[in-house]
Amino acid sequence: MKVNYGNTVPISTVDWHGKVSIVFFLRGCPYRCPYCQNHELLFESNMVEASILEAEMKKSRPFVSSVVFSGGEPLMQKDAVIHLAKYAKKIGLLVGIHTNGHYPHVMAELMGEGLVDKFFIDVKAPLDNAESYAKAIGCRDFTDMHIDPKVAVDKVSRSINLVLNNGIELELRTTIIRDFMGSSDDVHNIARSINELTGRRDVVYVLQQGFADRALLESLRDRKPLVRDELLDLAHVAHEFLDNIYIRTKEKGNEKLNFESI
Ligand code: SF4
Repeated sequence: MKVNYGNTVPISTVDWHGKVSIVFFLRGCPYRCPYCQNHELLFESNMVEASILEAEMKKSRPFVSSVVFSGGEPLMQKDAVIHLAKYAKKIGLLVGIHTNGHYPHVMAELMGEGLVDKFFIDVKAPLDNAESYAKAIGCRDFTDMHIDPKVAVDKVSRSINLVLNNGIELELRTTIIRDFMGSSDDVHNIARSINELTGRRDVVYVLQQGFADRALLESLRDRKPLVRDELLDLAHVAHEFLDNIYIRTKEKGNEKLNFESI
C-alpha cells in the first residue's frame, strides 16, 4: 500500500484538543484555498510505503493516545487512510481526521468500519452561499480549481450531517483571515447556516486565528492575524446561533467561551 505522504509531527497537543497525537500530513487536495498555509502539499507527490507510517505510529505509541490524519486533504486517499486507520486501531490509538468535507462517501465508509473517533470539518464560508464558498476554496483565483462550488457546499453539508447522524464526535471550524473571510457578517452567516443545516445549537464550532504569511495567494501574505479580542467579538456574533463556541489563538491556545461569565 502506497501513501502520498507529506510529513509527520510525532507528538502534538494542538491538533486534537485534549489529546496527545501523532499527526500525519498527507499530500493532495481538490481545493485551492487562497490562504492555504500547507500548499507545498498540494502540488507534488511523494509516494511512500504505508509501512513507514505504521512504524512511526508504533514509535510514538508510548507517548500518544491518538493519530490525526491531516493535510492536504487526507480523504483523497481513501485506501491508504482506511489501511492506516485499521493499523492505528490495532495498536490501540484513537483516530481523528481533519477534512474539508469533500468526501462524504469516504467518511461513510470509515464510519461504517468503525475506524474514526472524531472528525474535524472545515466550514470555510456560509453553507448556503455558493458564491462565498467559491471565493474561500479558490475558484476565483486559481485556474486549476475546477470544482463547482455548489457541489462543494452540498458535499460539506452532507458530511456534517452524516457525522452527526452517526453519533461520531465532531468539530466544525472556520479559519479567520482578515479582510478575506471572517467579517462579522461572514461569521453571522456561517453560524446561522450551521444551525439551519443541523437544526442544533450544540455543535462544537471553533473560530481559528488564521495566519496568511505563507498563503497560497501572494496578495494575502501581508494580512495580519486577528488578535484574541477580535476573535472573542466574532464568537459573540456566532453565539446568536450556536452555544459550543471556542476560539483558537497562538497566544492562548484553545478557549471555550462561557457566555454567562462574559
Ligand atoms: S486549506 Fe484548503 S487548499 Fe489547503 S489543504 Fe486545506 S482544504 Fe486544501
